[in-house]
Amino acid sequence: MKPEEVFASLTAFQQGLAGHFDWLHRWYQAVLNRQDGVKFPDPAACACPFDQWHKNAGGTPFADFPDFAQLAAEHDEVHDKAAQLSGRAQAGLTVTTSDYETLMMSVLSFGATAQSLEREVWKALATVDPLTGLSNRQSMRTHLMGERDRAIRQKLPLSLALADIDHFKKINDGFGHSQGDKVLRAVAAVLKATVRPYDVVYRYGGEEFLLCLPGTNAENGALVLERIRAAIAALELTDDRGTPIPVTATFGIAEINADLSVDDAIELADRALYDGKLGGRNKVVITA
Ligand code: GH3
Ligand code: MG
Ligand code: MG
Repeated sequence: MKPEEVFASLTAFQQGLAGHFDWLHRWYQAVLNRQDGVKFPDPAACACPFDQWHKNAGGTPFADFPDFAQLAAEHDEVHDKAAQLSGRAQAGLTVTTSDYETLMMSVLSFGATAQSLEREVWKALATVDPLTGLSNRQSMRTHLMGERDRAIRQKLPLSLALADIDHFKKINDGFGHSQGDKVLRAVAAVLKATVRPYDVVYRYGGEEFLLCLPGTNAENGALVLERIRAAIAALELTDDRGTPIPVTATFGIAEINADLSVDDAIELADRALYDGKLGGRNKVVITA
């Protein structure tokens, strides 16, 4: 999820919503102002911009939430009820207060779901690092503690690893901050592409990343890290003038168990990482 894409989707969502309420307002005004012999507007005859938004929003972060489908259903319900009311009036039948009341309940329910969906999107946005698109530390501890509980309950291994780009300060100093940012994005992309879907990679700090590897013991985790280490070392990035930017990273890994808290495991992984730095960098070290 890229924050700029989410912001664009949020704008489109709000425009779609505004379009829907504008439609409702126009329909309601026509209903209120109707005179004998003047027909109710036919809701089916004028398209609601919200439908268009929902159709276009399929690939956006909005579509990842359960409220997305519910919102479409509730939107249809509002339009169906408005159409029923129009139909009754056109057929010369009385439209009662309770008919309006049922429509209003659907309108309110649609509004509440729309708000809840927007809240979910904002919440997700707050957990994403804008530079790399990786998860940030916002929800990391809660997630890691949940993974630890699950691993202990299911008697499955769980490893935590730290990755730290080597001599990153030199990259910034030698090539400029924007090239440094480019390196961060490239390393993040390698991390993301190499781990399995249920592994999570966090941007832990400036040029440090934390990997949560469920179902993985330290030895197997180290094999995954070794693949990542090799892929980073093989990146072949260049600056704008084509000068190669050498990039390597060092890794430390620790396996969690019932006697180790999340913080303990991170500290052990950090010590292993530090050993890797002392041992010459561009290495994977399993905690002793
Ligand atoms: P080592 O091999 O021991 O890890 O050395 P290092 O230079 O990578 O370590 P150090 O912690 O001294 O430097 C990290 C640098 O990362 C310092 C900081 O300015 C830079 N940094 C942190 N966040 C960002 C960022 O978002 N973008 C860029 N370009 N640089 C960043
Ligand atoms: Mg560092
Ligand atoms: Mg570093």
